[in-house]
Amino acid sequence: MIEQIDAIILDSKDYKEKDALLSVLSLKYGILHLVARGIRKINSKNASACLPFTYAKLMVDLKEQRSLHTLQSAVILKSYRKIREDLLKQSIASYFCEMIEKSNFDEDVFSILLEALSCLQDTKNPFSVLCLFQSIMNRMHGIEPFVDGCVRCGGLHNIYALSYRDGGFVCSSCYRQGIDSVQDKERLKKFRILCKAKWEHYEIIKEIPFDYDDFLHVYTYFEEYAGIGMKSIRFLKTICEMEVKAK
Ligand SMILES: [Zn+2]
Repeated sequence: MIEQIDAIILDSKDYKEKDALLSVLSLKYGILHLVARGIRKINSKNASACLPFTYAKLMVDLKEQRSLHTLQSAVILKSYRKIREDLLKQSIASYFCEMIEKSNFDEDVFSILLEALSCLQDTKNPFSVLCLFQSIMNRMHGIEPFVDGCVRCGGLHNIYALSYRDGGFVCSSCYRQGIDSVQDKERLKKFRILCKAKWEHYEIIKEIPFDYDDFLHVYTYFEEYAGIGMKSIRFLKTICEMEVKAK
């Protein structure tokens, strides 16, 4: 059955000589795996629409009860040129795609990824989009840190540090040296905002100067508790560190 589907390309791997295996996130069916024949040929009409994080209209031969389907043709809906021209944005977009593919959520994540790519395309501070995306992913994985008081005593005052081990804020009385990570008030405030934020708060988030360190804090919870190894994180970190040094 040939069907037209709107999808975001998550990944493209070489397959046989001129073919590729694509993972795509479709609006209707969630994640699908497709064989794209001849896509590595120089004159392939479909190649540019099958690049990672392209939003495309695909004609797919969907085979019932099979896990691998066949791509017939692909047309670009959005190429996200401003992401492709910027190494930091590009590495973030690849990270988003890997995150969505590996997380394999039951919930619909199509609109989240589409929104994340649109915000990333237009932003002057890619770290805001990266931080917000990561904290939403943490929440969807059920590993949201506790930020409504001290995670050990429940106290609301003198919040002083982050505990990765206990998963949340720690007050000055409960603080354990060498275990908890001391942070200034501004950093803790930004962390709390991230832990509460959803995409509909992006207009507020984009006005706050989130940086690479803010990302590392939310990412550390993911790394500790999600149980998912992210291949693209190493490259992303290298690019982020270059960006930070250049400033
Ligand atoms: Zn405490």
